[in-house]
Amino acid sequence: MPRPRAVVTGGAGFLGSHLCERLLHEGYGVLCLDDLSTGSPSNVAHLAEVGPFRLVRADVTDFVHVVGDVDAVLHFASPASPIDYLRMPIETLKVGSIGTLHTLGLAKEKKARFLLASTSEAYGDPQVHPQPESYWGHVNPVGPRGVYDEAKRFAEAMTMAYRRAKGVDTAIVRIFNTHGPRMRPDDGRAVPTFIRQALAGEPLTVAGDGSQTRSIQYVDDLVEGCLRLLGSTLAGPVNIGNPHEVSIEHLARLVRDLVGSASPIRHIARPEDDPTVRRPDITLARSSLGWEPTVDLADGLHRTIAWFRDSLVTPAAQQAV
Ligand code: NAD
Ligand code: UDP
Repeated sequence: MPRPRAVVTGGAGFLGSHLCERLLHEGYGVLCLDDLSTGSPSNVAHLAEVGPFRLVRADVTDFVHVVGDVDAVLHFASPASPIDYLRMPIETLKVGSIGTLHTLGLAKEKKARFLLASTSEAYGDPQVHPQPESYWGHVNPVGPRGVYDEAKRFAEAMTMAYRRAKGVDTAIVRIFNTHGPRMRPDDGRAVPTFIRQALAGEPLTVAGDGSQTRSIQYVDDLVEGCLRLLGSTLAGPVNIGNPHEVSIEHLARLVRDLVGSASPIRHIARPEDDPTVRRPDITLARSSLGWEPTVDLADGLHRTIAWFRDSLVTPAAQQAV
């Protein structure tokens, strides 16, 4: 049997790098296409030792051409943190629309299975709680977050159009908030921000009164869910997320406790259109993929904090030297 081959767009980013690593362990050869706008070669520098891996710097909103057979196309390229997509609004819309068009075209040409990384942001500020895949969402198209939410909703529609009109074997995963090693400490998302602040002894910046909720999963669970979906014949969308829902105030205090920090909590302004609640209904993933999260919140945070401790030179560590 020849080795299967996967193309992963955005493979030098946080989730993409974990996905590439897991695919190599599963026996795939992996070609990573990444424009390095928010990702970094250092995230995948170790992968050449794991298996046949190649990183090619490419913007998938330009024409995508790959020589040779491809069995799977995983489209993960997109700015993903609010700071990144607010800084790159046009790029975000382009990679969700034109980038999805190009990668679907690649999957069609190669007769490959296609997996789209969509998001819980497709539900916007939800009015149904928890969110099942059948919920159509509550998104403000003209607000600042619209560039990300609508790009992903367009990407989902494009994916279903290629499935229906061109017979491409497609799947859509709706990813809920995920954390783990290789997040950028300055990407503005709650988990890396709180960890960085707690390690540095700085105030933890909680938006609004902190009563808004999120349901946060560890990266290994997400990767397992993606691999199961890729290996199935399901079209989705399928929610992959940890239903354990916590308030942001609770999350900040938990991170502070796990770090062992004395940082105070500082309340800051709540961003526009910041969703009030979010929790996945994972009935479909459970019943059709036999998937459910296995890493609980505190356990996962321990691992992410350990990685940040190793990779960040904090003021406290500098003093200790
Ligand atoms: P990330 O920023 O770490 O990774 C995104 C990667 O895409 C980066 O390496 C970046 O350089 C690359 N990229 C961006 N535009 C590109 C382009 N035009 N051409 C080629 N490469 C490009 O973000 P992440 O958290 O790893 O997110 C990965 C994917 O998962 C995204 O599609 C995101 O929308 C989705 N997602 C992530 C989360 C989460 O909690 N991390 C939640 C929901 C959905
Ligand atoms: N948040 C916060 N302080 C920060 C960064 C984020 O209170 O320094 C809040 C943010 O307003 C949101 C929640 O944490 O209510 C999750 O934000 P994140 O950017 O991690 O994910 P998303 O909003 O995309 O789900």
